[in-house]
Order: sequence, then C-alpha cells, then structure tokens
Amino acid sequence: MNEITMVIARNSDLIIVLWIVCTILCTYIGMQRGFPFLGFINGLTLGPIGVLFVVIQKNSKRYPCPNCTEEILKAAKVYPHCQRETNA
Ligand SMILES: [Zn+2]
Repeated sequence: MNEITMVIARNSDLIIVLWIVCTILCTYIGMQRGFPFLGFINGLTLGPIGVLFVVIQKNSKRYPCPNCTEEILKAAKVYPHCQRETNA
C-alpha cells in the first residue's frame, strides 16, 4: 500500500460522510436552480468538485432583467426591481 491509499483507508469514514454531504448539497443547490437530478449525479460522482460545478452552473430558472440586469425568475410577470411588466 502506498501513502495515498493508506490515508484514504484511515479516513474512509470521514470521506464517506463528506461525500454524502456533498451529494445532498449538490441536490439541494440543483433543486434551487432547476436541475435537481443533474445536481444529484454531480455530487454523487464528483463529491466536493461536483459542488463546485453546481455552484458555477448558470441558474436555469432565472435570467437577467433587460432593464436593470438583476437576476429574476423566468416565471415572473413583473420585474421585481424596476416594476416593469415582462414580455413573458
Ligand atoms: Zn429590473
């Protein structure tokens, strides 16, 4: 056994807990942004790196307001910041 596998073996419980936390976190962030399944898979396969991917992923439920460029929900009928009506 080399050093890396020994470190992993010694901390396997900790790594499993960290992985589960990352998976839950990815799923949660994914749910907030409209891609829960993708978030879940990301967390499960990539762990901490998956969290990073999900965080930098664009929010599919939101888009920038054309008037003030604030991020707003796609479903919005009125822009919440500038009170103008959306075209949706
Ligand atoms: Zn606006």
